Amino acid sequence: MTTVHFTCSDCAQTIEVNEEMRETILAAGCPVCTTGASEDDFSDDPDDG
Ligand SMILES: [Zn+2]
Repeated sequence: MTTVHFTCSDCAQTIEVNEEMRETILAAGCPVCTTGASEDDFSDDPDDG
């Protein structure tokens, strides 16, 4: 399973998500504060580069 890390640009919450959750966050916003999310808020691996 592919997972990515979402970091909210507003509340700075970092959440590990799968592809399904990623699509949900892009559509519905941050699960914590509901601020809209963009592709830039996701990273494949924060330890890589
Ligand atoms: Zn947030």
